[in-house]
Amino acid sequence: MAIRIEDKLACNCFHVDNDYMHIEINKECKDMDAIQKVVLACPAKLYRVENGVLKFSHEGCLECGTCRVLGGKTVLKRWNHPIGGMGVEFRMG
Ligand code: SF4
Repeated sequence: MAIRIEDKLACNCFHVDNDYMHIEINKECKDMDAIQKVVLACPAKLYRVENGVLKFSHEGCLECGTCRVLGGKTVLKRWNHPIGGMGVEFRMG
C-alpha cells in the first residue's frame, strides 16, 4: 500500500522559531496570478488566499525554495533559511 505524502510529511520534525519568520510575504502584492502560483506550488500548503488576501504561516516550511523561485520578486518580501537549529528536521518526508 502506498504511503500518502501527508503521512510522510507528518514524520518530519519542525523546530518552530516564534521570534523570527524566515519568510515574509509582500502584503502589497496584488498580482493574483503570481499569488496563485505560490499557493498551488508550496508542497506544504503554507500559503492560502482568504477573502482575496494572501495568508502565510512559516510553521511546517520544508525550506524547498519553491516560493522563492516563483514569487521572490513579487509575492515575497524576504526569504531566508531559518536560524541555525530551527526549521525542518527531515525524517521521512
Ligand atoms: Fe512552501 Fe517551500 Fe516556500 Fe517553505 S520554502 S513556504 S515549503 S514553497
